[in-house]
Amino acid sequence: MAIGSREAALASSLFRKFYSKYGISADDVEKREFGFGNFETKIAYRHMAFRSNEELKKRVVSEAPPFISFSTARYNDPAGRPLESKGWLGSELIFDLDSTDLNLQCQKVHGKSWVCGECLDAVKDETAKLVEEFLFADFGFSKDDITLNFSGNRGYHVHVIADAIMKLTSRERKEISDYISGIGLDPVMFFPNVGGKGKMVGPKATDAGWGGHIARGFISRLNGGAAALKELGISSQSAKKLEEHKAELVFGVSTGNWDKVDVPKKDEFWKSIIGSMTVSQSDSIDRNVTNDIHHLIRMAGTIHGDTGLVARKLDGYSSLSGFDPMAKCVVFRSGSLDVVVEDSPAVDIGGSTFGPYRNSKQTLPTYAALYLILKRRAVLA
Ligand SMILES: [Zn+2]
Repeated sequence: MAIGSREAALASSLFRKFYSKYGISADDVEKREFGFGNFETKIAYRHMAFRSNEELKKRVVSEAPPFISFSTARYNDPAGRPLESKGWLGSELIFDLDSTDLNLQCQKVHGKSWVCGECLDAVKDETAKLVEEFLFADFGFSKDDITLNFSGNRGYHVHVIADAIMKLTSRERKEISDYISGIGLDPVMFFPNVGGKGKMVGPKATDAGWGGHIARGFISRLNGGAAALKELGISSQSAKKLEEHKAELVFGVSTGNWDKVDVPKKDEFWKSIIGSMTVSQSDSIDRNVTNDIHHLIRMAGTIHGDTGLVARKLDGYSSLSGFDPMAKCVVFRSGSLDVVVEDSPAVDIGGSTFGPYRNSKQTLPTYAALYLILKRRAVLA
């Protein structure tokens, strides 16, 4: 749904004030390509280049674009067209994690365009898993190699900036995203006798690579109880049975013995569990983003035009677990706005809860009113 002209004008004037006051700054600004969006299209035009952050700020203050993206690539001539003539120097390795792709239960209630606390917690967990289980454990990157920012709406962006990866081709990046997505994994690689008879042996929690991911992932679901187990696509009855034998199973899996529970059609049962786990390990990552060396991604420190929240850069990976985007990414804290809210679930933002509302006139703090306006749930009164 298109945003109204009064609402667009209000949002643009707030964005302009924000950029005038706080500025905007990118590393290697002169080597990056920029793209700006409007309220309908996140990247409406691209191939822009700026010689300095001052020049970038001047343009941003003048246009107040609802979306600002930049290239993860560095180029000799970032404004060059077509892409091939830019003189590619290398690209960050990036991962775009979005809660929309997690198929969460809460999304069945509030729909895909809305985001709730559960969505944000779930995508945070996925981000932590990507960083710890894959980027640190499997690929050996360190905390200094990654930066993280809230996307401004429903997820997180992870940037790996290290000499070892800048020159990787698109094909090589695809190998990394395929590995993380578990593409091409065969259960038999980890459970040699899954289809046969006898005690089923499998990976241990301490194993390196995917074996360890599978073992630890299964233990964490066991600890999450029957509901978490059912997310693996198994029946309520089997989930209950697994939960009842949790202690033995956790002990067994930690030592590589996966045969602690008697279930019917054992081979099918484990195959489906393993299959669904490899998918859910990383199904929130947009692989096209990772594979594309010319991708434009939201610039940290800019406003997201669908929320009015800032795509805040985190102060290191260690701050992720305690990071609350609906508090930390709120700007526009002064003043209030009168709005008519058509239909909105409750929203926790800036430390308070607003709503749910249905066809009601409200006076809300600017940030909360703006959030509902940009989410197309409210209009100015
Ligand atoms: Zn949700």
